[in-house]
Order: sequence, then C-alpha cells, then structure tokens
Amino acid sequence: MRVLPDRFWQKVHLWKDTPKWEWEDWRWQIRNRIKNLNSLSSVLGVDLSHLKDVESVFRVGTTPYYLSLVRDFKNLNDPILMQILPSNKEIDPVIQEGGELDPFNEEILSPVEGLTHRYPDRVLIRSTSFCSVYCRHCMRKRIFLEDERGRSYLDFEKMFSYIQENKQIKEVILSGGDPLTLPNKKLDFILSRLQRIDHIHTVRIGSRELVVNPYRFMDEGLLEILERNDKVWLITHFNHPDEITDVVKKAVKNILSTGVPVLNQTVLLKGINDNVETIEKLLRGLLQVKIKPYYLFYCDPTKGVLHFRTDIKKGVEILEKLRGRLSGIGIPTYAVDLPGGLGKVPLQPEYIVEETDRFITFRNFEGKIVKIQN
Ligand SMILES: *Cc1c(COP(=O)(O)O)cnc(C)c1O
Repeated sequence: MRVLPDRFWQKVHLWKDTPKWEWEDWRWQIRNRIKNLNSLSSVLGVDLSHLKDVESVFRVGTTPYYLSLVRDFKNLNDPILMQILPSNKEIDPVIQEGGELDPFNEEILSPVEGLTHRYPDRVLIRSTSFCSVYCRHCMRKRIFLEDERGRSYLDFEKMFSYIQENKQIKEVILSGGDPLTLPNKKLDFILSRLQRIDHIHTVRIGSRELVVNPYRFMDEGLLEILERNDKVWLITHFNHPDEITDVVKKAVKNILSTGVPVLNQTVLLKGINDNVETIEKLLRGLLQVKIKPYYLFYCDPTKGVLHFRTDIKKGVEILEKLRGRLSGIGIPTYAVDLPGGLGKVPLQPEYIVEETDRFITFRNFEGKIVKIQN
C-alpha cells in the first residue's frame, strides 16, 4: 500500500493553496476536475498540442486526486498517466481496425432504454454517461461521444417497471458512466426502489470512484444510504498497485462498516500492468486493504482501446505463475467477454495432463505429477 505524504497535492502548483477540507471533499474533486487537454498540459508542464485531434473525438477528464498519484509528470509512460492521457493511437484507423463502439450489443440487447438484459437472472443499468475520470481503456467508450448527463427519474421508472414484471431477474448491476457520481438524492431513489422489489436479491454497483475519488466514501450521507439498502455490493476497478493508497484503505473501511462487500475487476492493459510482478503487487495490495479480486479481464474489442490489448494467453500465463505463490483469495478469474453479447467465459491454466476412463493425471503448481482414480 502506498502511503501518501501529508498534503501531497500541494506539490502541484495549481493546488498549492488548496486546504485539506476542500481537497477531501468529493464534490470539490469533481467540480475541480481537469476537463480538457489545455488544463492537463498546464498542470503537467508538457506540451500536448499534438493530441488535439484525439480530444475532439474522445473527451478528456480526471480528478485532481487521481492525477496527483502520478509519480513524475514528465514520464508519459507512468501507469496512472497512461490511463488518463489520450493517445493518437485511439483514432489511428489501422490500429483500431476491427474495433466496435458497442462490441457487446448492449444497445441492441436493451428491452428498455438504458437497461441491458444479457443473462436470464441479471440486468445491467447504464445510469449516467458521466465519469469523473475518463479512462482511456474504457470498454464503453461510446459514452465519451454523448452529452455528459444522468438519466431522468422517468427513465429509471421505466427500467424499474421492466424489472418488476420480470421475476426471473435476481440482480441489478448499476453501471454507467459512474453511478457514484450521481447525487446522493438520486442514488437513494434508485437503491430504495430496488430495495422494495422482493425478487431482487442483489444490487451490484460498478464504480471507479474508490480509485479516482476515494473521498466519495467519506460522505456520511452516502454511508447512511449504503447502510440502509442492504442488498448492495460494490465492484471497483483497480489496475495498478500505485492506485492503492492509505486514503483508499480508509475509504474501504468506511464501506465495509456499512455491510457492503468490496470486489475488484482489473483489465489487462499493455504497458500498464501486463506482467507478473505488477499483477502480483496489485493483488497483494488489494488483499491488504480488504478488497477481493474478482475478475481479471482481457481487454475488450472496443474501438479506441485496441492499442491496450495484449495476447489473449497473457492473462493465463500470469495467473499460472501466481497460483501457489499467492493466497487463493487473492486470485481472480481471468475472463474474456465474447463479442456480440454472448457472455463472459473464464480462461484457466490447464492442470489436467491426461484423462482416461480410469485415471486422471494432474500437475500441481510446482509441476509435480499426480495420478488419481477417475
Ligand atoms: C458482465 C455483465 C454481467 C455480469 O456478469 P458476472 O459474470 O455475473 O459478473 C451482467 N450483464 C452484463 C450485460 C454484463 O456485461
């Protein structure tokens, strides 16, 4: 875990006079986010004029907190900076060939505007097109092309009617954009409505605020809402050990105190985390702050993110090296989301060496061979 120095933000000229109480207010973080290339360029002290064309297609945004995690502003290969700084590769027609804006047909598999029903027992709600940070590797990068706005109360009511009528639905996934950028009042409305639908057992909030704006969870109002709505799980999105800070640890403690479990999804990203050392450090860091690693994803075939793709087998290779060396509760499932909305499939290292009618031969994590009766 990374322990940030006291008033670590004051090393950046723009925030040198920002008092602690303002910096630690999640609303201040969103209000004062860096929204364009010009401001990013002046904070970094780096000329970014060669990236103007990308910005006109895929917008730019980061919270001051997340940007301040960058260790050296002059190092454009910093793993945090690579997730927020646009690249000309995003709009390179050769590199992005074969990518799609909606590879999983989320819009087509929508019986109601904003709601995707892919698996029988769970639905996904796209609650807003706003994020406080626009991750360059976003699988839903098409929202960068829309206006930044949340859905209306009426939109939500239509989705709730659908859920109410379809009793096979047991779980609702609130996704976005980032649902935790919504004001408490709207979030409370959504969660309370879902709380009252008996056949809904689980409400999963998919949010990156814990990574990019952990002060969201210092808001007593939100904690009270989470406490009252007892179906909620939080799925967050850490990609690199540099993101796991003492501020995050404090935030997780607050979340767990409301009874909400915290799980993590990581995306395997070329040049950012696609090696054993980084993933091991990430998974250990997550365990240290009590977050359970859930999925490690192969990077999705979304137009604008293909330059982050690794070999598909890379994830299997990495997890194979970690098995036996890292606590079992720290090992996520490596998964590939199939194009066309066909669902996620897990990929595992192969531990069965041979199988006959009578015997199965296994190898363990050290390569030792064991034969047992079938
Ligand atoms: C990923 C996803 C889910 C959840 O899948 P799990 O394997 O349960 O995490 C549900 N619906 C949609 C549309 C998804 O993309």
